[in-house]
Amino acid sequence: MRFSQLLIPTLKEDPAEAEVISHKLLLRAGFIRKLTSGTYTYLPLGLATIRKVENIVREEMNRAGAQEILMPMVQPASLWEESGRWQEYGKELLRFKDRNQRDSCLGPTHEEVITDVVRTNVHSYKQLPLNLYQIQTKYRDEARPRFGLMRGREFIMKDAYSFDATDKGAEESYHRMDLAYHRIFERCGLRFRAVEADSGAIGGSFSHEFMVLADTGEDTIAICNNCQYAANMEKASCVVASSSDAAPLELERIETPGKRKVNAVCEFLDITPAQLVKTLIYMVKDEPVAVLLRGDHEVEEVKLANVLGVSDEDIRMADDKEVFDATGTPSGYLGPIGLAIKTIADLEVEAMVNFAVGANEKNFHVLNCNMGRDFSPSQTGDVRKVTAGDKCKLCGGTLELTKGIEVGHIFKLGTKYSTALQATFPDDHSHETPFVMGCYGIGVSRVVAAAIEQNHDKDGIIFPAPIAPVQVLILNLDLKDEGITSAAQTIYKKLQEKGIEVILDDRDERPGVKFKDADLIGIPFRVTVGKSFSKDGIIEIRSRADGNVSTITFDDCVEEIIKNVQNSMNL
Ligand SMILES: [Zn+2]
Repeated sequence: MRFSQLLIPTLKEDPAEAEVISHKLLLRAGFIRKLTSGTYTYLPLGLATIRKVENIVREEMNRAGAQEILMPMVQPASLWEESGRWQEYGKELLRFKDRNQRDSCLGPTHEEVITDVVRTNVHSYKQLPLNLYQIQTKYRDEARPRFGLMRGREFIMKDAYSFDATDKGAEESYHRMDLAYHRIFERCGLRFRAVEADSGAIGGSFSHEFMVLADTGEDTIAICNNCQYAANMEKASCVVASSSDAAPLELERIETPGKRKVNAVCEFLDITPAQLVKTLIYMVKDEPVAVLLRGDHEVEEVKLANVLGVSDEDIRMADDKEVFDATGTPSGYLGPIGLAIKTIADLEVEAMVNFAVGANEKNFHVLNCNMGRDFSPSQTGDVRKVTAGDKCKLCGGTLELTKGIEVGHIFKLGTKYSTALQATFPDDHSHETPFVMGCYGIGVSRVVAAAIEQNHDKDGIIFPAPIAPVQVLILNLDLKDEGITSAAQTIYKKLQEKGIEVILDDRDERPGVKFKDADLIGIPFRVTVGKSFSKDGIIEIRSRADGNVSTITFDDCVEEIIKNVQNSMNL
């Protein structure tokens, strides 16, 4: 492909409409253009990179035994009424009537349609397991579409659905998809983690989210630096620090005038926050509950809600008045000794010895408090947020906190849809049995955005080679120089003959413009044919990823380029 003939409308400035890096760069590099809010046209380079991701996804799904199909985008309301989601699904479901006044919707997902396909076509357990997938445009009528391809209204998704005769079979299907997803994101050249996700309310179900690691991600996740452990903050837990064998000392009441905050108290008492236990009051529905936590730790409210057996919407921090009403003590001086309300102690508190607490009296604290001797909580539990440096509970490695972008989700559904839609098969005793289902999504267009969020610098995109639109960009730096032009063309043709995807920048532009565009669109290898060729017969090959430049003679350059490309492809 010749740059001069390709539609690659690069921009010099960041477009005002874009808030996040991937959105800015996709627009600036001429990969996408907005039609309306949350919908985009994929221009040639944008579509080329989408296709790369699709092909990797397709190959790995096929390898895992899934079969590709393509379902209609327009779906009848009647199926959604059978599953109950016509009412349940929010305004993201774009509903409309066709010319015959039949209620319809644009598919945001296809559980209903696939379940209908299987109930009408699969009549024996001998046809199971079955895993069907499609790669298709989905539509969700987001209230605030933003961030370009990260959260659009229309997006390209791979959705797969597995059908098994038994729960055990469904778990095997799930594990096959788990493996396939690992292979997919590895082959895409992305740093990612599979994160255990909240399994929701469906019994017997479980799920994992696949997160591309990027500083700009919306979700914080804890990952181990030594093993594959990764979890959302709402789920992450760690090893409890081993208890100290120091002997318990006598309680000591001490005046701490005006010292309410952890840091002020610790400075005044000359101790570290790890030697203090803070007492926080939460309102759980309408009941005050005290939460005891090491001074340098924070409450993770979802974990607290789980320990209390309530929804996280039912808990909130008490305000100063509620604290005083519940305890008779102003906040800042609370402690567990003699506290008359329900008390939850974090697991870490159990392991501490001789810690400082509030004295339940204004301007006083108590030193050398010990759980068990001086107070007994109603309950203990893991209620704190993990922090960077905590120890991994699987391997003892060190946890790091990082940001992630969800690009895939695998979910063992169970029989929710098959029961609702009466999708059954006769088991070996001729009993009609609902299929056990799983569903597995990958946001294909989102993968491209996430790849850019993870791989870019101030000059532009740095594509992992396997998902770059092409692998090589040749710059002809002087169209008027016959030697240079002919050499650039020869390299271009030879690479094409060898099956290497390549663009020749043959535009009548200054070298500076070509270099800038090359960095912006992020093609893995830039091959420059310019002055050093006419002078010494030297071609320059530069890697976009690490900036390494190798200089090589014209005769050897094609072989060298091919070697570089092959080494970068994660095959
Ligand atoms: Zn670990």
